[in-house]
Amino acid sequence: MSSRKTMIAADVDFDRQGLQFGRLRLPHSVHRSAYGHIPIPIAIAANGSGPTVLLTGGVHGDEYEGPIALSRLAREIDIDRVRGRIIIVPMLNHPAFAAGTRVSPIDDINLNRIFPGRRDGTATEMIAHYVTTELLPRADCLIDLHAGGSSLQYLPALLAPRWSDPQKAARVDALVTAFGAENVIYFDSVRALSGEDRVIGNYADQNDVDFLTGEFGGGSSVNIDGLATAERGVRGVLAHLGVFPAEGAHSPRKGRIRRLAMDDSGLYAFADRRGFFEPKFALGHSVAAGALAGLIHDIDNPWQTPVEIFFRTGGIAMCVRTFSLVEAGDCLGHLAREI
Ligand SMILES: [Zn+2]
Repeated sequence: MSSRKTMIAADVDFDRQGLQFGRLRLPHSVHRSAYGHIPIPIAIAANGSGPTVLLTGGVHGDEYEGPIALSRLAREIDIDRVRGRIIIVPMLNHPAFAAGTRVSPIDDINLNRIFPGRRDGTATEMIAHYVTTELLPRADCLIDLHAGGSSLQYLPALLAPRWSDPQKAARVDALVTAFGAENVIYFDSVRALSGEDRVIGNYADQNDVDFLTGEFGGGSSVNIDGLATAERGVRGVLAHLGVFPAEGAHSPRKGRIRRLAMDDSGLYAFADRRGFFEPKFALGHSVAAGALAGLIHDIDNPWQTPVEIFFRTGGIAMCVRTFSLVEAGDCLGHLAREI
Protein backbone atom coordinates (compact mmCIF):
# COMPACT_ATOMS: atom_id res chain seq x y z
CA MET A 1 0.00 0.00 0.00
CA SER A 2 1.33 3.40 -0.93
CA SER A 3 1.56 5.90 1.91
CA ARG A 4 0.79 8.73 -0.50
CA LYS A 5 -2.58 10.36 -0.25
CA THR A 6 -5.67 8.94 -1.87
CA MET A 7 -6.53 9.72 -5.49
CA ILE A 8 -10.15 10.27 -4.47
CA ALA A 9 -11.21 13.80 -3.55
CA ALA A 10 -14.15 14.39 -1.20
CA ASP A 11 -16.33 17.47 -1.41
CA VAL A 12 -17.36 16.97 2.20
CA ASP A 13 -15.30 18.00 5.23
CA PHE A 14 -14.94 15.18 7.78
CA ASP A 15 -14.17 17.67 10.54
CA ARG A 16 -17.07 20.02 9.96
CA GLN A 17 -20.05 19.99 12.31
CA GLY A 18 -23.51 19.53 10.86
CA LEU A 19 -25.11 17.46 8.14
CA GLN A 20 -23.42 17.29 4.73
CA PHE A 21 -24.44 15.49 1.58
CA GLY A 22 -21.65 15.24 -0.97
CA ARG A 23 -19.63 13.12 -3.32
CA LEU A 24 -16.38 11.24 -3.43
CA ARG A 25 -14.78 11.91 -6.81
CA LEU A 26 -13.34 8.72 -8.23
CA PRO A 27 -10.99 9.71 -11.10
CA HIS A 28 -12.20 8.25 -14.37
CA SER A 29 -10.59 9.67 -17.48
CA VAL A 30 -12.01 7.86 -20.50
CA HIS A 31 -12.73 8.40 -24.18
CA ARG A 32 -16.08 10.10 -23.65
CA SER A 33 -14.97 12.18 -20.65
CA ALA A 34 -11.34 13.28 -20.57
CA TYR A 35 -11.40 15.07 -17.19
CA GLY A 36 -14.24 13.04 -15.80
CA HIS A 37 -14.79 11.41 -12.46
CA ILE A 38 -17.40 9.06 -11.02
CA PRO A 39 -19.31 10.67 -8.14
CA ILE A 40 -19.91 8.35 -5.16
CA PRO A 41 -22.54 9.72 -2.75
CA ILE A 42 -21.44 10.26 0.86
CA ALA A 43 -23.23 11.83 3.81
CA ILE A 44 -21.67 12.99 7.06
CA ALA A 45 -23.59 13.91 10.19
CA ALA A 46 -21.38 15.34 12.94
CA ASN A 47 -22.46 17.00 16.13
CA GLY A 48 -20.30 17.40 19.23
CA SER A 49 -18.12 14.69 20.67
CA GLY A 50 -18.85 10.99 20.44
CA PRO A 51 -17.85 7.95 18.45
CA THR A 52 -17.62 7.82 14.66
CA VAL A 53 -19.76 5.16 13.02
CA LEU A 54 -19.04 4.26 9.40
CA LEU A 55 -22.02 2.78 7.53
CA THR A 56 -21.49 1.21 4.12
CA GLY A 57 -23.73 -0.50 1.58
CA GLY A 58 -23.36 -1.37 -2.06
CA VAL A 59 -19.91 -2.87 -1.68
CA HIS A 60 -21.42 -5.29 -4.16
CA GLY A 61 -23.50 -3.55 -6.80
CA ASP A 62 -26.41 -6.00 -6.86
CA GLU A 63 -27.42 -5.77 -3.18
CA TYR A 64 -30.18 -3.34 -2.26
CA GLU A 65 -31.21 -3.48 1.40
CA GLY A 66 -28.08 -1.61 2.55
CA PRO A 67 -28.35 1.24 0.03
CA ILE A 68 -32.06 1.72 0.80
CA ALA A 69 -31.61 1.55 4.58
CA LEU A 70 -28.60 3.87 4.65
CA SER A 71 -29.95 6.44 2.18
CA ARG A 72 -33.18 6.66 4.19
CA LEU A 73 -31.23 6.96 7.44
CA ALA A 74 -29.22 9.85 5.99
CA ARG A 75 -32.34 11.62 4.73
CA GLU A 76 -34.08 11.28 8.09
CA ILE A 77 -31.19 12.23 10.41
CA ASP A 78 -32.07 14.91 12.95
CA ILE A 79 -28.63 16.46 13.35
CA ASP A 80 -29.54 18.15 16.64
CA ARG A 81 -30.01 14.72 18.19
CA VAL A 82 -26.69 13.29 16.96
CA ARG A 83 -23.74 12.99 19.37
CA GLY A 84 -20.61 12.04 17.52
CA ARG A 85 -20.29 11.40 13.82
CA ILE A 86 -21.95 9.16 11.25
CA ILE A 87 -20.28 8.63 7.87
CA ILE A 88 -22.66 7.05 5.36
CA VAL A 89 -21.66 5.65 1.96
CA PRO A 90 -24.79 3.80 0.74
CA MET A 91 -23.34 2.59 -2.58
CA LEU A 92 -19.62 2.27 -2.02
CA ASN A 93 -18.92 0.63 -5.36
CA HIS A 94 -21.13 3.08 -7.23
CA PRO A 95 -20.08 1.99 -10.75
CA ALA A 96 -21.07 -1.59 -9.90
CA PHE A 97 -24.29 -0.37 -8.29
CA ALA A 98 -25.24 1.66 -11.35
CA ALA A 99 -24.67 -1.44 -13.48
CA GLY A 100 -26.50 -3.76 -11.06
CA THR A 101 -23.55 -6.13 -10.93
CA ARG A 102 -21.58 -7.66 -8.08
CA VAL A 103 -18.25 -6.63 -9.57
CA SER A 104 -17.38 -3.33 -11.20
CA PRO A 105 -18.08 -3.08 -14.94
CA ILE A 106 -14.92 -0.94 -15.23
CA ASP A 107 -12.32 -3.44 -14.03
CA ASP A 108 -14.30 -6.61 -13.27
CA ILE A 109 -13.10 -6.45 -9.65
CA ASN A 110 -15.04 -7.48 -6.54
CA LEU A 111 -14.51 -4.61 -4.07
CA ASN A 112 -14.64 -6.97 -1.10
CA ARG A 113 -11.79 -9.09 -2.48
CA ILE A 114 -9.32 -6.30 -3.16
CA PHE A 115 -8.59 -4.70 0.23
CA PRO A 116 -6.40 -2.86 1.18
CA GLY A 117 -6.64 -1.55 -2.39
CA ARG A 118 -4.13 0.59 -4.26
CA ARG A 119 -3.85 4.35 -4.47
CA ASP A 120 -3.02 4.34 -8.17
CA GLY A 121 -4.84 1.14 -9.05
CA THR A 122 -8.02 0.56 -11.02
CA ALA A 123 -11.34 2.20 -10.07
CA THR A 124 -12.29 -0.52 -7.56
CA GLU A 125 -8.78 -0.65 -6.10
CA MET A 126 -8.87 3.11 -5.55
CA ILE A 127 -12.19 2.83 -3.69
CA ALA A 128 -10.78 0.11 -1.41
CA HIS A 129 -7.66 2.20 -0.80
CA TYR A 130 -9.84 5.18 0.13
CA VAL A 131 -11.73 3.08 2.68
CA THR A 132 -8.48 1.73 4.13
CA THR A 133 -6.63 5.05 4.35
CA GLU A 134 -9.38 7.67 4.79
CA LEU A 135 -12.57 6.13 6.20
CA LEU A 136 -11.52 3.31 8.53
CA PRO A 137 -8.87 5.38 10.37
CA ARG A 138 -11.63 7.86 11.30
CA ALA A 139 -14.08 5.20 12.50
CA ASP A 140 -14.75 3.49 15.83
CA CYS A 141 -17.40 1.15 14.45
CA LEU A 142 -18.22 -0.12 10.95
CA ILE A 143 -21.49 -1.67 9.83
CA ASP A 144 -21.20 -3.00 6.27
CA LEU A 145 -24.57 -4.15 4.92
CA HIS A 146 -24.70 -6.92 2.31
CA ALA A 147 -27.07 -9.40 0.70
CA GLY A 148 -26.53 -12.49 -1.40
CA GLY A 149 -26.25 -10.60 -4.66
CA SER A 150 -27.67 -11.99 -7.87
CA SER A 151 -26.51 -15.58 -7.38
CA LEU A 152 -27.52 -16.19 -3.74
CA GLN A 153 -30.60 -15.70 -1.58
CA TYR A 154 -30.12 -15.35 2.21
CA LEU A 155 -32.32 -15.75 5.23
CA PRO A 156 -31.64 -12.28 6.70
CA ALA A 157 -28.82 -12.56 9.22
CA LEU A 158 -26.38 -10.32 11.02
CA LEU A 159 -22.75 -11.49 10.85
CA ALA A 160 -20.41 -10.79 13.72
CA PRO A 161 -16.80 -11.73 14.44
CA ARG A 162 -16.18 -14.09 17.36
CA TRP A 163 -13.15 -12.87 19.26
CA SER A 164 -11.13 -14.72 21.86
CA ASP A 165 -10.17 -11.39 23.49
CA PRO A 166 -12.92 -11.05 26.16
CA GLN A 167 -13.10 -7.25 25.90
CA LYS A 168 -13.59 -7.32 22.16
CA ALA A 169 -16.06 -10.17 22.47
CA ALA A 170 -18.09 -8.21 25.04
CA ARG A 171 -18.13 -5.11 22.82
CA VAL A 172 -19.27 -7.11 19.82
CA ASP A 173 -21.88 -8.92 21.87
CA ALA A 174 -23.34 -5.59 23.00
CA LEU A 175 -23.46 -4.44 19.37
CA VAL A 176 -25.19 -7.69 18.37
CA THR A 177 -27.80 -7.23 21.11
CA ALA A 178 -28.34 -3.60 20.08
CA PHE A 179 -28.75 -4.60 16.43
CA GLY A 180 -31.43 -7.09 17.46
CA ALA A 181 -31.45 -9.36 14.39
CA GLU A 182 -33.28 -12.66 14.83
CA ASN A 183 -30.36 -14.59 13.29
CA VAL A 184 -26.73 -13.86 14.07
CA ILE A 185 -23.92 -15.80 12.45
CA TYR A 186 -20.58 -15.61 14.25
CA PHE A 187 -17.44 -16.13 12.24
CA ASP A 188 -14.15 -16.97 13.92
CA SER A 189 -12.19 -14.74 11.65
CA VAL A 190 -12.42 -13.54 8.10
CA ARG A 191 -9.88 -16.22 7.23
CA ALA A 192 -11.70 -19.11 8.91
CA LEU A 193 -12.94 -20.92 5.84
CA SER A 194 -11.04 -19.84 2.80
CA GLY A 195 -7.89 -18.01 3.81
CA GLU A 196 -9.69 -14.87 2.65
CA ASP A 197 -8.04 -11.75 4.03
CA ARG A 198 -8.83 -9.27 1.26
CA VAL A 199 -12.17 -8.25 2.80
CA ILE A 200 -13.11 -4.96 4.46
CA GLY A 201 -13.54 -6.59 7.88
CA ASN A 202 -9.88 -7.55 7.98
CA TYR A 203 -8.87 -3.91 7.59
CA ALA A 204 -11.53 -2.73 10.04
CA ASP A 205 -9.88 -4.99 12.57
CA GLN A 206 -6.40 -3.71 11.70
CA ASN A 207 -7.70 -0.19 12.41
CA ASP A 208 -9.24 -1.31 15.73
CA VAL A 209 -12.71 -0.67 14.34
CA ASP A 210 -15.51 -2.80 15.79
CA PHE A 211 -17.18 -4.48 12.88
CA LEU A 212 -20.58 -5.91 11.99
CA THR A 213 -21.76 -7.07 8.62
CA GLY A 214 -24.72 -9.09 7.48
CA GLU A 215 -26.67 -10.66 4.67
CA PHE A 216 -30.16 -9.18 4.46
CA GLY A 217 -31.60 -10.79 1.34
CA GLY A 218 -30.39 -11.49 -2.16
CA GLY A 219 -31.34 -12.46 -5.67
CA SER A 220 -30.82 -8.84 -6.82
CA SER A 221 -34.14 -7.93 -5.21
CA VAL A 222 -35.25 -6.32 -1.95
CA ASN A 223 -36.13 -8.56 0.99
CA ILE A 224 -38.63 -6.56 3.05
CA ASP A 225 -37.91 -8.48 6.27
CA GLY A 226 -34.18 -8.09 5.71
CA LEU A 227 -34.57 -4.40 5.00
CA ALA A 228 -36.58 -3.90 8.20
CA THR A 229 -33.95 -5.86 10.16
CA ALA A 230 -31.14 -3.74 8.73
CA GLU A 231 -32.93 -0.44 9.32
CA ARG A 232 -33.87 -1.32 12.91
CA GLY A 233 -30.42 -2.75 13.56
CA VAL A 234 -28.40 0.25 12.40
CA ARG A 235 -30.56 2.60 14.47
CA GLY A 236 -30.23 0.27 17.46
CA VAL A 237 -26.43 0.28 17.24
CA LEU A 238 -26.37 4.08 16.88
CA ALA A 239 -28.53 4.37 20.00
CA HIS A 240 -26.35 1.85 21.86
CA LEU A 241 -23.22 3.87 21.06
CA GLY A 242 -24.88 7.10 22.16
CA VAL A 243 -24.78 8.63 18.68
CA PHE A 244 -28.58 8.60 18.59
CA PRO A 245 -30.65 9.28 21.71
CA ALA A 246 -31.78 6.09 23.43
CA GLU A 247 -35.41 7.09 23.69
CA GLY A 248 -37.56 6.86 20.60
CA ALA A 249 -34.60 6.04 18.37
CA HIS A 250 -35.66 2.51 17.72
CA SER A 251 -37.90 -0.20 19.04
CA PRO A 252 -35.90 -3.38 19.64
CA ARG A 253 -37.30 -6.62 18.31
CA LYS A 254 -38.85 -8.85 20.94
CA GLY A 255 -37.77 -12.45 21.06
CA ARG A 256 -34.57 -14.38 21.32
CA ILE A 257 -31.50 -14.08 19.13
CA ARG A 258 -30.59 -17.31 17.32
CA ARG A 259 -26.79 -17.56 17.48
CA LEU A 260 -25.17 -19.51 14.69
CA ALA A 261 -21.76 -20.38 13.32
CA MET A 262 -20.59 -21.37 9.86
CA ASP A 263 -17.18 -22.60 10.90
CA ASP A 264 -17.32 -25.99 9.19
CA SER A 265 -16.88 -26.64 5.48
CA GLY A 266 -19.50 -29.44 5.75
CA LEU A 267 -22.16 -26.74 6.12
CA TYR A 268 -21.58 -25.71 2.49
CA ALA A 269 -22.72 -27.42 -0.70
CA PHE A 270 -20.90 -26.90 -3.99
CA ALA A 271 -21.57 -28.12 -7.51
CA ASP A 272 -19.03 -30.66 -8.73
CA ARG A 273 -20.13 -30.48 -12.39
CA ARG A 274 -22.11 -28.48 -14.90
CA GLY A 275 -25.87 -28.82 -14.94
CA PHE A 276 -28.97 -27.32 -13.45
CA PHE A 277 -29.64 -27.46 -9.75
CA GLU A 278 -32.78 -28.56 -7.94
CA PRO A 279 -32.52 -27.61 -4.24
CA LYS A 280 -33.93 -30.00 -1.63
CA PHE A 281 -33.86 -27.57 1.29
CA ALA A 282 -35.71 -24.36 2.13
CA LEU A 283 -34.32 -21.26 3.82
CA GLY A 284 -34.84 -21.24 7.57
CA HIS A 285 -35.50 -24.97 7.78
CA SER A 286 -33.42 -27.34 9.88
CA VAL A 287 -31.27 -29.70 7.80
CA ALA A 288 -29.75 -32.90 9.23
CA ALA A 289 -26.10 -33.89 8.81
CA GLY A 290 -25.75 -35.93 5.64
CA ALA A 291 -29.05 -34.62 4.21
CA LEU A 292 -29.55 -34.14 0.52
CA ALA A 293 -28.78 -30.55 -0.52
CA GLY A 294 -30.16 -31.08 -3.99
CA LEU A 295 -29.80 -32.65 -7.39
CA ILE A 296 -27.72 -31.59 -10.36
CA HIS A 297 -29.50 -32.48 -13.57
CA ASP A 298 -27.67 -33.10 -16.82
CA ILE A 299 -28.23 -30.37 -19.42
CA ASP A 300 -27.75 -32.55 -22.48
CA ASN A 301 -29.04 -35.88 -21.24
CA PRO A 302 -32.22 -35.51 -19.14
CA TRP A 303 -32.54 -39.35 -18.94
CA GLN A 304 -29.34 -39.47 -16.92
CA THR A 305 -29.99 -39.97 -13.20
CA PRO A 306 -29.33 -36.60 -11.50
CA VAL A 307 -26.28 -36.35 -9.25
CA GLU A 308 -26.99 -35.99 -5.52
CA ILE A 309 -25.17 -33.34 -3.48
CA PHE A 310 -25.16 -33.61 0.33
CA PHE A 311 -24.51 -31.41 3.35
CA ARG A 312 -21.96 -33.22 5.53
CA THR A 313 -22.85 -31.15 8.61
CA GLY A 314 -26.35 -30.27 9.83
CA GLY A 315 -27.75 -26.83 10.58
CA ILE A 316 -30.27 -24.14 9.68
CA ALA A 317 -30.49 -23.35 5.95
CA MET A 318 -29.26 -19.77 5.56
CA CYS A 319 -28.45 -19.42 1.89
CA VAL A 320 -29.52 -20.93 -1.42
CA ARG A 321 -28.34 -20.36 -4.96
CA THR A 322 -30.80 -18.39 -7.12
CA PHE A 323 -29.53 -19.36 -10.58
CA SER A 324 -30.39 -22.95 -11.36
CA LEU A 325 -27.65 -23.31 -13.97
CA VAL A 326 -24.42 -24.32 -12.28
CA GLU A 327 -20.81 -25.00 -13.12
CA ALA A 328 -18.31 -26.99 -11.08
CA GLY A 329 -17.30 -24.94 -8.04
CA ASP A 330 -20.52 -22.90 -7.72
CA CYS A 331 -21.90 -22.54 -4.19
CA LEU A 332 -25.36 -24.14 -4.05
CA GLY A 333 -26.14 -22.90 -0.56
CA HIS A 334 -25.05 -23.21 3.02
CA LEU A 335 -26.28 -23.90 6.50
CA ALA A 336 -25.23 -22.48 9.84
CA ARG A 337 -25.16 -24.51 13.04
CA GLU A 338 -26.68 -23.27 16.27
CA ILE A 339 -24.21 -22.49 19.06
ZN1 LIG B 1 -22.15 -8.47 -0.71
